[in-house]
Amino acid sequence: MRRTAALIVGGGPAGASAAISLARGGAMPVVIERSPGERDLVCGGFLGWDAIAALKKLGLDPAALGAKPIHRLRLVAGRKVVETELPAAAAGLSRRRLDATLLRMAEEAGAAVLRGRTARALEEGCVRLNDGSEMAADALFLATGKHELRGAVRPIGTRPVSVGLRTAIAPPTDLAGTIELHLYNGGYAGLLLQEDGAANLCLSVAQSRMAGGREALLAELMREAPLLAERLGGVIPADWEAIAGVPYGWRARSAEPGRFRIGDQAAVIASLAGDGIAVALASGAAAAHACLHDDDGAPAYQRAFAARAKRPIAIAETLRHMAEAPVRRKLMLGLAGWPGLAKLAARLTRVG
Ligand SMILES: Cc1cc2nc3c(=O)[nH]c(=O)nc-3n(C[C@H](O)[C@H](O)[C@H](O)COP(=O)(O)OP(=O)(O)OC[C@H]3O[C@@H](n4cnc5c(N)ncnc54)[C@H](O)[C@@H]3O)c2cc1C
Repeated sequence: MRRTAALIVGGGPAGASAAISLARGGAMPVVIERSPGERDLVCGGFLGWDAIAALKKLGLDPAALGAKPIHRLRLVAGRKVVETELPAAAAGLSRRRLDATLLRMAEEAGAAVLRGRTARALEEGCVRLNDGSEMAADALFLATGKHELRGAVRPIGTRPVSVGLRTAIAPPTDLAGTIELHLYNGGYAGLLLQEDGAANLCLSVAQSRMAGGREALLAELMREAPLLAERLGGVIPADWEAIAGVPYGWRARSAEPGRFRIGDQAAVIASLAGDGIAVALASGAAAAHACLHDDDGAPAYQRAFAARAKRPIAIAETLRHMAEAPVRRKLMLGLAGWPGLAKLAARLTRVG
């Protein structure tokens, strides 16, 4: 069995952020990432201003990767459209590009990144990998995002969960500078331009709506969101990345010594707020700092991060519940037209 000072399971933004901070702080972390190379995953690709600031702090300017600037929010419900300026500059960047760059930076900082290796379970303090080997660590960082690791499953209880779907479409001509959110019952679709010139289309919907299968659900959503259907030219794309069981609003409030939950393993902010990447970056950096400098490491970090995420998550949940039901959605669109209100809501949902 191999033993290491810091082991990070998952190489998304949370795992990479922790790896960069740990490596720069003198630890020699090992990252286990199951994807063998660059890949897309379910995400809207929206980088809020706090995510951009966190990336710049790590030494990465998203603009240098070709991220497309975004300064306007377009909310669409049925055929009603409301537009408002964002409080600060945001950007659209594919997760393929962002995650690959962050993992490269982790390696350059001194982390060992083991790609194409999957952690199967955490058993008796050891992480068992898909090749049969085992790894133990003084500090373990759980950064598997929306996926659970057997032996360390998040205790989300019976809270209702959502499903995420993502694809890329040809870019509409009037999308530049804009994040477009199409609201429907139980969720929304986000559309933005990304660095490769495609438009990233990401859907979130209550898992309870999936009973009739994906094709039937997509057909229903196109009827509920006619302007989105027009964006697609009436043709539903065939290829989607998908993820189920997304527990919006959940936070980890405690941790065992030496076991840090980061990113979606620490707190799951409603994706409508577009702040999950910032949560991932912030929690990865905070956990690394606690590991390097704090005697009460993981338990103190987890309590502090849960407190930090409490208000943004609560406000994002309120917005999500408004957006997901017809009457409240109408009210939401009315309020979004009030000067300053949408900007305030966007500010209050930031963790970073
Ligand atoms: C529909 C939807 C849209 C969203 N849109 C946005 C948005 O526009 N902007 C935003 O800021 N946030 C958005 N989010 C939230 C954002 O995607 C997440 O909060 C963020 O990706 C969390 O980062 P992470 O590093 O914790 O996990 P992830 O990004 O999920 O990364 C986890 C990594 O761990 C790896 N992994 C998983 N299991 C294992 C294992 N057993 N062994 C080894 N490796 C493993 C995976 O391959 C992956 O690379 C959205 C979420 C959803 C559901």
